[in-house]
Amino acid sequence: MRTAAYRQAPPGDLRAVIGSTRPGSGSGSAPGPEWEWVIPLVCGIDVGGTKIALALGDEHGDVRAHERRPTEPSGDAGADLDRIAADVGGLLEKAGVARSELGGVGVSVPGPLDPERGLVLNPPNLPGWNEAPVRDRLADALGVPVFLENDANAAALAEWRFGAGRGTRHMLYLTASTGMGGGLVLDGRVHRGVMASAGEVGHMPVEWEGEPCSCGLRGCLEAYVGGRSWTRRLQRVTPGESRVAALAGGPERARPEHVVEAAREGDAFALAEMDRFNEYVARGIVALVFALAPERIVLGTIAVAAGEELCFVPVRERVARHVWPFLAERLSIVPAELGPRLPDYAGLGVAFAGLEEAGAEEADPGGSADDARDPAKRNRS
Ligand SMILES: [Zn+2]
Repeated sequence: MRTAAYRQAPPGDLRAVIGSTRPGSGSGSAPGPEWEWVIPLVCGIDVGGTKIALALGDEHGDVRAHERRPTEPSGDAGADLDRIAADVGGLLEKAGVARSELGGVGVSVPGPLDPERGLVLNPPNLPGWNEAPVRDRLADALGVPVFLENDANAAALAEWRFGAGRGTRHMLYLTASTGMGGGLVLDGRVHRGVMASAGEVGHMPVEWEGEPCSCGLRGCLEAYVGGRSWTRRLQRVTPGESRVAALAGGPERARPEHVVEAAREGDAFALAEMDRFNEYVARGIVALVFALAPERIVLGTIAVAAGEELCFVPVRERVARHVWPFLAERLSIVPAELGPRLPDYAGLGVAFAGLEEAGAEEADPGGSADDARDPAKRNRS
């Protein structure tokens, strides 16, 4: 089965766009099996609950133009998507780029999605977007292939291509912001699993009958290290005399960032809380290392704020104690690099990944790449 996005760009056209603009490819060597899928410019769209970020960029991460605006969902996904398509047009104009130069669009959306049909399923904070046909509506409006990922996969693809995962084949991205999200890039491709829900590392159990999680299960990693859960705990257990309480203006206002700051000053309670955070993050990582044998694990948000001494050094030590030495030796655990620029790069990462996958499918139409995405074929084999 071909995706609608793929039909938007017949193979010949896609190849022509890529081939004609590849640096130094005007003449000389014909494209062979090592064909490099390079697209000049793509547009990335990060649809957040409060803000939409659009960026026009190339494969080197050179952002030519970007734009952010409040999401302002109207309650009608079709109208919202038409407005986003108009934003893309405006961005091209602002950058002085012709529509014909746009090679594709990548969209990062919150919440679950149906990758086969290119739909967003009931995203939080986006009323009217249940089963919104994001891929096809934007592809129809813009006339280029459109690719869709959930925000965690999009962030993973962005870090992998433009950030801390550059140069690796097997990279896992974990981020503890409000919840705990993750994305798996394996063999240079995002691994989606059933209903594109692979990488939900926040709900791996780290205690069998542990803390209740917002997902309904108990003992999930997110229930220990997710920002929302940790904040709830801090407001319950922070001692009044701790530095955390002083920084927060009272235990009932304590948040993870106060823990990080107080731990840096040597506060005992804050250090114990960081130790707990590191312990649970390490438990999650150990399970992932045995399952997937990654070469790099990129940690975002709270870990980045805590930094080397408070987080990365102790997490690396704990992981090394619990995995086989040859796995630990080949693994680097590093901070995410994109930070506040992530919304610009998330959609760009999705677009390049989508175009590469489409290119690989075209190069090997009956091959494993296609089969892997097509449940009917997969079941026959
Ligand atoms: Zn959970």
